[in-house]
Amino acid sequence: MTDQIDALKALQMALARLGYYTGAIDGLFGSRTEAALKAVAAEGGAIRNLKHPAASTPTGPMIFQGSVRYPVDEIVIHCAATHPDWMRGQPLTAKRKEIDRWHREERGWRKIGYHHLIDRDGAILPGRAETEIGAGVEGHNRGVIHICLIGGAGSAATDPFERNFTAAQDRALRGLIDAIRAETAITRITGHNDHAAKACPGFVVRNWINRA
Ligand SMILES: [Zn+2]
Repeated sequence: MTDQIDALKALQMALARLGYYTGAIDGLFGSRTEAALKAVAAEGGAIRNLKHPAASTPTGPMIFQGSVRYPVDEIVIHCAATHPDWMRGQPLTAKRKEIDRWHREERGWRKIGYHHLIDRDGAILPGRAETEIGAGVEGHNRGVIHICLIGGAGSAATDPFERNFTAAQDRALRGLIDAIRAETAITRITGHNDHAAKACPGFVVRNWINRA
């Protein structure tokens, strides 16, 4: 039974990473999981990473970005710097649309810079495809997957995770990192504040990782 739940969690995570599923990663086969699978089938899509999470660990880069094919070996964590109740009650798709608008209109980027968003309730939604070079850290984007947590307004670089983010976000972020690691060898997991004098993501990533 536990194996079945783990396998279903891995499936939900794979569907979430591809943008088909925004429900909880709970290993329960509900209407949202069913709808996501139907959507994949309708598009003739293939789901990667359906193996059991413990099946095997890649020894090298398996995800590549851009036409130059930079190997992905790092995850950088960010926050949206939004208040805890920002767009409360609206779906994560609406929040992604708003962040996409900021990045286009205020930064002049061609689309949202992050590869994944994690909402307050732990829902996960892709931004850019993992095979595209993102925009998250100035001069440090090749071979990086950028993950953005919704929230974090007024945070400091040294805050504990739970001061600015939810337990559901903690679980979702760890699950997403595990799912990416099951597919490609990640050698560094950092925060924006490890690369620049910024508060983002509003916690010390290495402390948070080591706490698990
Ligand atoms: Zn950032």
